[in-house]
Amino acid sequence: MTDSQGRTVRDLRLSVTDRCNYRCVYCMHAGLQYMPGRHLLSLNEYLRVARVCASLGIEKIRITGGEPTLYPQLDELIRELGRLPVKDIAMTTNGSRLEEGALVRWRDRGLKRLTLSLNSLRPERMTSITRSESSPQTVINAIGLARQLGYHPIKVNCVVRRGMNEDEIADFAHLAREHGIEVRLIEFMPLDSERRWSPEEVVPADEMIRLLRQHYELIPIEADDPHGKAVTFHFADDSPGRIGIIASVTRPFCGDCNRLRITADGRIRPCLFSDREWDLRPILRNGADDERLRRVIIDAAWAKPAGHEINSPSFTPPDRTMSAIGG
Ligand code: SAM
Ligand code: SF4
Repeated sequence: MTDSQGRTVRDLRLSVTDRCNYRCVYCMHAGLQYMPGRHLLSLNEYLRVARVCASLGIEKIRITGGEPTLYPQLDELIRELGRLPVKDIAMTTNGSRLEEGALVRWRDRGLKRLTLSLNSLRPERMTSITRSESSPQTVINAIGLARQLGYHPIKVNCVVRRGMNEDEIADFAHLAREHGIEVRLIEFMPLDSERRWSPEEVVPADEMIRLLRQHYELIPIEADDPHGKAVTFHFADDSPGRIGIIASVTRPFCGDCNRLRITADGRIRPCLFSDREWDLRPILRNGADDERLRRVIIDAAWAKPAGHEINSPSFTPPDRTMSAIGG
């Protein structure tokens, strides 16, 4: 499946809910209205879309949300995705609900990689960022457990927002070294439901790297995945762990983007920052055959925009916010 720019689409982000047990300040505001439950796809509908995407050359599927561990049929979803002819199944989660039994089941059913979000290592700050009862230690314990159970690689996503947590960047590098994992520092993107985003709140990649280099000597890693979105570094002293920087705002990687997103309510979203979507729900619910579904998915992929416009003066944030798209 290629787009009009010659990029081959191989990576599917499948959002299974827009609900969440957190209200992270950079993502959801406190009174955010969820989508009506009847609009969300059923398990069979998610699986049908995933199956058709796999037949079109999708190689990686990442389950996301909202908080995907709130999706009641996650076990069945992972089991069935694990039977598809794809190379890789991963999940992004806030790490608050990762119990050993579930991690074992998901691993045995084919989930290979986990990305856990963590935005502060300071308990009080984490509570105020997530506006929930949450604790960094819960996520750190989940990292240890997932590692023991063989998940690999395990990554930590940390959204860095000006005035929120940029003073913890070196602490996050320490976390990466201590646990031998990749910590990915993410520039704040204009996808928060509060519409607070402004360029002043972005801590640019260059500044993050400068802050890191005050504490650690970093060596850039030649990209092992040309479609990987992070600029990655390892530590010059050969300690384990690495740092990735996801600079969607200041160093867009659109030219290498090979992703397609499916929202929890069944829209195909070829670009995070463009409101253009293709609605699969009526097609799924009116008895259309797989060929019709294939055609719409191929059309949506073909129309993937060449790049985003965040840095253009006329940019306006998209209508859908991160939790309703699937990050
Ligand atoms: N709830 C899960 C979590 O937090 O990991 C999965 C869904 S969340 C929407 C996916 C990723 O998007 C998370 O790593 C989160 O930190 C990131 N994210 C959310 N809002 C963002 C924003 N405005 N800018 C950059 N990243 C954001
Ligand atoms: Fe929930 Fe993830 Fe958004 Fe935080 S970033 S509010 S955990 S969906």
